[in-house]
Amino acid sequence: MTLSTAQIRSAFIDFFAKQGHQAVPSSSLIPHDDPTLLFTNAGMNQFKDVFLGAEKRAYTRAVSSQRCVRAGGKHNDLDNVGYTARHHTFFEMLGNFSFGDYFKTEAIQFAWQFLTEELKLPKEKLLVTVYSEDDEAYGIWKDTIGIPEEKIIRISTSDNFWSMGDTGPCGPCSEIFYDHGEHIWGGPPGSPEEDGDRFIEIWNLVFMQFNRQADGTMEPLPKPSIDTGMGLERISAIMQNVHSNYEIDLFQALIKAAAEIVGTADIENKSLRVIADHIRSCAFLICDGAMPSNEGRGYVLRRIIRRAVRHGYKLGASDIFFYRLVQALCDQMSDAYPELKEQQAVIEKVLRVEEEQFSRTLERGMSLLNQALGDMEGDIVPGELVFKLYDTYGFPADLTADVAREKGFAIDEEGFAANMQKQRERAQQSSQFGADYANVVSVDHITQFTGYEKVEQTSEVV
Ligand code: ATP
Ligand code: MG
Ligand code: MG
Ligand code: MG
Repeated sequence: MTLSTAQIRSAFIDFFAKQGHQAVPSSSLIPHDDPTLLFTNAGMNQFKDVFLGAEKRAYTRAVSSQRCVRAGGKHNDLDNVGYTARHHTFFEMLGNFSFGDYFKTEAIQFAWQFLTEELKLPKEKLLVTVYSEDDEAYGIWKDTIGIPEEKIIRISTSDNFWSMGDTGPCGPCSEIFYDHGEHIWGGPPGSPEEDGDRFIEIWNLVFMQFNRQADGTMEPLPKPSIDTGMGLERISAIMQNVHSNYEIDLFQALIKAAAEIVGTADIENKSLRVIADHIRSCAFLICDGAMPSNEGRGYVLRRIIRRAVRHGYKLGASDIFFYRLVQALCDQMSDAYPELKEQQAVIEKVLRVEEEQFSRTLERGMSLLNQALGDMEGDIVPGELVFKLYDTYGFPADLTADVAREKGFAIDEEGFAANMQKQRERAQQSSQFGADYANVVSVDHITQFTGYEKVEQTSEVV
């Protein structure tokens, strides 16, 4: 059975709606009421207070397809994009939730039924993990579902134990993996080769069972809950008989559009996948109200845009190109997310202005970097150069690291941070002249690098 990505999304919602789940729309990528979270990164985010018991809803079962961004913050997949078959900065997480309603048995049964009956996946290609101490889940998979024991893997790491924070709701997870075949490198979960892309994790079932106290004791929750998440693009790859998420219908359309726009025939080029990935996160972030800037969420957005632009340049783009992909994205996704179409003009404008600005220094920065990489001894790009590229050419450090990595180099992050620190001290000294003076002579806003997550803005005084 071949289903389009859009059909799989609907099939999931319909299946759980039939089982009494309320279909809840995706929430924004910008968690306005949660400053502890950089971007929405899981379906459960919008239900956090319901799980904590602080908020009551009219339903105890919910289903959603949640837009997520994992670039920065606790989950950061930015550096995986272009390297693995399964990671995006933006993806959709399909999830069913029980707020003190059903628990482990039903959650496992629903998942198994959806995969093997609704989608008709071959059972022999699936394997599952459980938390090492969770004999209950082990027993359900083995006895109720009937999975052979060698396909139920006990994992003792935090991969199979979920918690919201140091205290509060937590519990074991059980994950479902799909075997894409022995021609692909990788080993089953828990093995040394598990980071390969042969066995791909598709669905995480979280059994919220305990309330962890400040002293570490685990109190059983009176009403245990269920939180699950399945990557739409990953299940789509399986249903469309391809290995990589980037080969699914939606991504192929974006990749083709990108190839046409930048003018390349090299359709397999990794940079096209990166661009196709990045247009989704950038467009949806702007759609949800983020703006490129030099701090916080806006700086993450700026970094993703600049990385995409750099990949376009690498493919030979001769003009501003990135914003032109928004149309292709709308063609693919605005049926499911009408807000994308409504914001199309804004998204295009923001991307265009941002690219125009960066393109003024990109070429010169790249030739400086390429020359330095060619002349370099050793395999670490000095922090001073990373800083110069950042300060003079607008290269975020992670962009320089991305270029360097392609050629087998790493960057000296500590040296870069030290240069940033010196810069900050210089800025502080000059500000002793007084605020007015600093305002008159400040020519540009620059970003101070204080680690990948925390950035702050200052004025450069010349
Ligand atoms: P992985 O181990 O492959 O990085 P994960 O364990 O970090 O995945 P979870 O946090 O369990 O992922 O999220 C639930 C599901 O969301 C995953 O099983 C996967 O299907 C999907 N998913 C997670 N991260 C990504 C991503 N960056 N791109 C696409 N899908 C993802
Ligand atoms: Mg991950
Ligand atoms: Mg995982
Ligand atoms: Mg997981």
